[in-house]
Amino acid sequence: MEQIRNFGDERQVTSCVYCSGVTETRDHVPSKVFLDEPYPENVPVVPACESCNQGFSLDEEYTACLIECALAGSASPEDLQRQKIKRILSKRPALASRFSEARQQTLWGETSFAVESDRVSKVAVKLARGHAAFELIEPQREEPASVRVIPLLLMTAQDREDFESPPASGTSQSFGILPEVGSRAMQRLVGGTRSWIVVQPKRYRYLTSIEAGVIARMVLSEYLACEVRWE
Ligand SMILES: [Zn+2]
Repeated sequence: MEQIRNFGDERQVTSCVYCSGVTETRDHVPSKVFLDEPYPENVPVVPACESCNQGFSLDEEYTACLIECALAGSASPEDLQRQKIKRILSKRPALASRFSEARQQTLWGETSFAVESDRVSKVAVKLARGHAAFELIEPQREEPASVRVIPLLLMTAQDREDFESPPASGTSQSFGILPEVGSRAMQRLVGGTRSWIVVQPKRYRYLTSIEAGVIARMVLSEYLACEVRWE
C-alpha cells in the first residue's frame, strides 16, 4: 500500500472537515466498517468534531451491510463473506430484517435490494469531504454540485472507462488550478501518481482531482461506485 506522507499540511485544516465545528477527534476516511482486519497502516485521518464522527456511523453501517448483501444476493449472515458484516447483522436483527424486507426479485430473476439512497448518498458525501480535505487540502463544506452512486456493474463500458480515468486536465494548465505546494495533491503530481489510491485491495479505493472543480471518486468493495463533485 502506498505510504501517505505527512507533509506538514495538517496546519491548513484545523476545524472539523464536515461541519467546520471545533475539532475534538480524528476520523478515519474511510471508516473501518468499510475495511477488514488487519487494517492497513496508513488509513487517512482527518480532524472531526465528536458529533460528525459519531453521527454518520449508522448510515455507514447500513451502507457497508447493503453492499455486502447485494454482493451475496442475500441478507442472511451465513451467506456473507465479510466477517465484520456477519457480526453486525447477527448482533442487529432489526437491521438484518430490514435487508430481508428490502430484498426483491427483479424481472430477470436476480436479487436486488431496495436502497435507502439518501443514506448511501450521505455516506458518499461524507467520504468525499474527508478525501478532499486530506488529499487536496480543500475542505468542502458546501453542498456538492452532484452526487452519483451506482454499482460498477450497471455502468456502460464508456461510463466505466470515464469513471476509472483521472479527470482530464482540460484546456487550461494555468497556475491558478495547480495544487498548492506541499499539499498531497502536489506531491502526487510531482511523483506522477495522480490516480487511484488503494486503501485496501478489494475493499476501498479512491481518486481525487481538482482539474475541473473538486471531484472525489470512491469504489467500495469493488461494487459500489461513488462520485461527488463541487464546482
Ligand atoms: Zn463536525
